[in-house]
Amino acid sequence: MKIAILPGDGIGPEIIEQAVRVLNALDEKFEMETAPVGGAGYTAHGHPLPDATLQLAKDADAVLFGAVGDWQFDTLARPMRPEQAILGLRKELKLFANLRPAILYPELAGASTLKPEVVSGLDILIIRELTGDIYFGQPRGVRIAVDGPFAGEREGFDTMRYAETEIRRIAHVAFKAARQRGNRLTSVDKANVLETFQFWKEIVTEVHAEYPDVALDHMYVDNAAMQLVRAPKKFDVIVTGNMFGDILSDAAAMLTGSIGMLPSASLDANDKGLYEPSHGSAPDIAGKGVANPLATILSVAMMLRFSLQRPEQADRIEAAVKAVLAQGLRTPDIFEAGTTRVGTRDMGDAVVRALAR
Ligand code: NAD
Repeated sequence: MKIAILPGDGIGPEIIEQAVRVLNALDEKFEMETAPVGGAGYTAHGHPLPDATLQLAKDADAVLFGAVGDWQFDTLARPMRPEQAILGLRKELKLFANLRPAILYPELAGASTLKPEVVSGLDILIIRELTGDIYFGQPRGVRIAVDGPFAGEREGFDTMRYAETEIRRIAHVAFKAARQRGNRLTSVDKANVLETFQFWKEIVTEVHAEYPDVALDHMYVDNAAMQLVRAPKKFDVIVTGNMFGDILSDAAAMLTGSIGMLPSASLDANDKGLYEPSHGSAPDIAGKGVANPLATILSVAMMLRFSLQRPEQADRIEAAVKAVLAQGLRTPDIFEAGTTRVGTRDMGDAVVRALAR
């Protein structure tokens, strides 16, 4: 099994270093190769996604990605900006399913803006379709309206669309993920108003026939947004389209109150994936040794579960993270009175020690 390691910019290299130490502490050894990406790719090879980096990512069984972006690259033309690397990787690796767990460890319940009893023990998974929907549909643009009450005026327009194949493949990912968890799936749509999502609902219902052991329900997106803040623990797995998923996954992330804790995965049709923390490159704290490496370490656990088929190793890493939180160790982003403040490397050390126990 070969893993492409792409640290990127800002805190990327610091948090990836700890994640690699955790990988090396497992019984099984994985082949790893590192390459520059983002601003680091531009600096080394004049492009945010250098050819050799892309080839390494294509050849590997999984990609572990830190984060990209830094203010010093903000003056570059858009195609050369660090953030283009992540878009290029998604496209070239044909990644269409974005998996974002929102987990709130009971020890961190005070970090959420919601009442602890509403969120403590939260463990949900949001699956967002990445390639279709109104974000990529054609035609789009600004035109002169030809009819209606605003005829003759300029109007902006976009096209919402989903092909049957796109809905089927994301539905399969979601049903399979539900099987690995609590066997419950909520498909979020706006079928009462949008043709695209009426079609989405029909196809998800058809795919359900292949997963009779998973309980499926359908929810309109406005209700889903309300339920996410009212009673988020009643969800298990949520599957939805690109735009609704974009919005709901950020809302769910904030339920946990700590962006430094949230991993993510983007998968292709063969479960190959790119794994990264949900946060960015945090240039404001880069090089200070205070970044929380746990989102990246938990991304490694997702990689072991979804791409490398090593669920027992994934469980071990997640248990080790729980153990260090129970010990009261906290990086500054999750620090509270009565706990012990540690830096990036100390947090990595603690996870490696907990794994050995
Ligand atoms: P950010 O997520 O990098 O930072 C937001 C805030 O959270 C900052 O205060 C930061 O210090 C803090 N933070 C983030 N991760 C942390 C961690 N692991 N531990 C402790 N604190 C952490 O978002 P931003 O500031 O909006 O963006 C910074 C750069 O990251 C930009 O260039 C942006 O384009 C890029 N970005 C990259 C990705 C990616 O690589 N996938 C995603 C989002 C943003």
